[in-house]
Amino acid sequence: MINLEVPKKAKGLVNQARQAASEVFRPISRKYDRAEHEYPVELDMLASLLDGLNTSGEGGAGAAGVRRKEDEKDSGNRNGGNLSTVLGTIEMCWGDVAMLLSMPRQGLGNAAIASVANDEQLERFAGTWSAMAITEPGCGSDSAAITTTATEDGDHYVLNGEKIFVTSGERADSVVVWATLDKDLGRAAIKSFVVEKGTPGFEVVRLEHKLGIRASDTAVLRFDNCRVPKENLLGTPEIDTKKGFAGVMQTFDNTRPLVAAMAVGVARAALEETERLLTEAGVEVDYDRPANLQHAAAARYLRLEADYEAAYLLTLESAWMADNRKPNSLQASMAKAKAGRTAVDVTLGCVELAGTLGYSEESLLEKWSRDSKILDIFEGTQQIQQLIVARRLLGKSSSELK
Ligand SMILES: Cc1cc2nc3c(=O)[nH]c(=O)nc-3n(C[C@H](O)[C@H](O)[C@H](O)COP(=O)(O)OP(=O)(O)OC[C@H]3O[C@@H](n4cnc5c(N)ncnc54)[C@H](O)[C@@H]3O)c2cc1C
Repeated sequence: MINLEVPKKAKGLVNQARQAASEVFRPISRKYDRAEHEYPVELDMLASLLDGLNTSGEGGAGAAGVRRKEDEKDSGNRNGGNLSTVLGTIEMCWGDVAMLLSMPRQGLGNAAIASVANDEQLERFAGTWSAMAITEPGCGSDSAAITTTATEDGDHYVLNGEKIFVTSGERADSVVVWATLDKDLGRAAIKSFVVEKGTPGFEVVRLEHKLGIRASDTAVLRFDNCRVPKENLLGTPEIDTKKGFAGVMQTFDNTRPLVAAMAVGVARAALEETERLLTEAGVEVDYDRPANLQHAAAARYLRLEADYEAAYLLTLESAWMADNRKPNSLQASMAKAKAGRTAVDVTLGCVELAGTLGYSEESLLEKWSRDSKILDIFEGTQQIQQLIVARRLLGKSSSELK
């Protein structure tokens, strides 16, 4: 049974993450929102601390902390790396989402490596920073439409294609690239490859200017006859048309709860700041009285907070399931859908409730409303999560329900 209190052993991590968020992230939040594309050097020290937490096996507050240990013996209820990482991520994103996305060695590629790499690869890529490149100019939500190719040639695969909107694409040491071994064989032929910076034929073309998470670098990458050693393929090279996408898609079961956690964190930040402003303005939120008997602003606040609670609980559930080796694809998509939308609704709702202060750069509310939108887009949009949930609940395949 899931226990909804923060597990005792995660409390230290949560406190440390909260401290880092308030003492490191918050003070530089506005500075790097304005200085788009500039690396926040203040993160270097903190990154070393996170490395320590991740190698302790108890998770941390970044993507590198997630791993599903399929071979562990069932020993009852387990609060492991996924739950700890989600709890840490919530705290860090209470501080600043873009800063967490800019943390060295905590990229989504690290989560892919942590999720599906073999022991030799885990060791070889330990301590490096890895981005994740799926999206292409002609392929976003429909990741089965990937056109980047990987052609076998002796001890190497030769990669050709273009990837767009790659988070940490410029700063990371490597990129986990999704490419097809054979376009005619569809989804099953899509594999992921770790491509290290400096590999001939791998080029960062440009950085994007964005609405939010402006401290995070988002890159366009090109692969032109880029030769990648065979041992950099993650998972199995076999093309099993019966299993389809299973290998590469497995990463999402671990990363979607993480993105949901980012959304929960930024929503909580906005709620806390708004409650403070409401109190200052003489509006008390009373939890013992029905919402409809309170000030309209308090009633609105209570509705936003209820949505936040639902998102928070779904997020914890999906991570807890991953730790307890329960299939969590449905819950991971539910959490991502609910939390992504809630972060957008809550942060914009808080901008409204705070009036002119909410819209001005005097507070961080306007920034949070810009930062939150991406959490409803990457790692699968709101609509795609709903599609996945519907397929799972109705027992339909991706070709039956598109
Ligand atoms: C800041 C930022 C960072 C990113 N980081 C990364 C990264 O690190 N790595 C990476 O690989 N990608 C990354 N992305 C890309 C992101 O994952 C894609 O933008 C996302 O998957 C959507 O793809 P798309 O933009 O091509 O939209 P499309 O797939 O073209 O979708 C457009 C709209 O149509 C909707 N839609 C599509 N199909 C359906 C359907 N079947 N039913 C109903 N509605 C549908 C979508 O929900 C969306 O609203 C990033 C994007 C941004 C903006």
